[in-house]
Amino acid sequence: MTVAEALRETGRRLEAVGGSGRLDATLLLEYVTGATRESFITADARELTAAEDAAFAQAAQRRLAGEPIAYITGIAGFYGRTFAVDERVLVPRPETEHLVDAALKLLRAAGTTGGRIADIGTGSGAIAIALAAELPDAWVFGTDISHGAIDVARRNAARNNVFQQCTFLHGDLAQPLAKFAPFDALVANLPYVPTADVPALPDPVGFEPRPALDGGADGLDLYRRLIAQLPALLAPQASVLFEAAPGTIEPLARLMESAFPGADLTIGEDYAGLPRYLSSRGTATQRQR
Ligand code: GLN
Repeated sequence: MTVAEALRETGRRLEAVGGSGRLDATLLLEYVTGATRESFITADARELTAAEDAAFAQAAQRRLAGEPIAYITGIAGFYGRTFAVDERVLVPRPETEHLVDAALKLLRAAGTTGGRIADIGTGSGAIAIALAAELPDAWVFGTDISHGAIDVARRNAARNNVFQQCTFLHGDLAQPLAKFAPFDALVANLPYVPTADVPALPDPVGFEPRPALDGGADGLDLYRRLIAQLPALLAPQASVLFEAAPGTIEPLARLMESAFPGADLTIGEDYAGLPRYLSSRGTATQRQR
């Protein structure tokens, strides 16, 4: 089979699992051949070797069974960087790049780009590492309840040359961070899918770790617990940023309001125009003890 045939035929077959079959075929062929997509254009008549052919067929089979491309290739792009991912962590989502943008904006406006930042439930470390890379003077802490995730995040920090700026700690939500307080900013993309909405196989999301998605009956169980931990952690004027499900942003804002009555809350929208982010400025300034 030639490169052109592989892309055309497999691309067509992969359309059955949604997304772009052609792009998926291209990503998988890059993965098995180690060649770039540019080379596929200039050398589209090249015959695949028997080994490439077999590896490509196997990768396509996994994708046809619904497995996310990122788990097959072992890498995902996020905020212009490359991250290693596997079944121990959620695949970074494009909409979470917005969360990074919003955090950078808040920190720059507050003049605290050299401070301490916490990323709760860091997973692959994507948010923490993107922030560390953008803010060379910041010290970024990531926590996760999953030992596997902490392992993946540390490797990703090394891979992205920010290992010195990042500290990844195992534990429940913000619990491991008490001795490093106060924090100038805290970001979180906690599991927020209401239990009844967590997709099952063969939906690609069904391949991802359920504990990284399931936010309890209303999707806010983990945020509720995290907000209770915050008063002891935040510096005056701290910025807080959460990503959550569109239907849960309003209730989440009310939870923050009652914990931090003076905070300045803003709701942000994702690429689809749905409410997806809650940011809070001056969070700990007005807090009532
Ligand atoms: N946005 C993810 C999804 O829709 C959920 C991520 C999360 O729970 N933090 O699958």
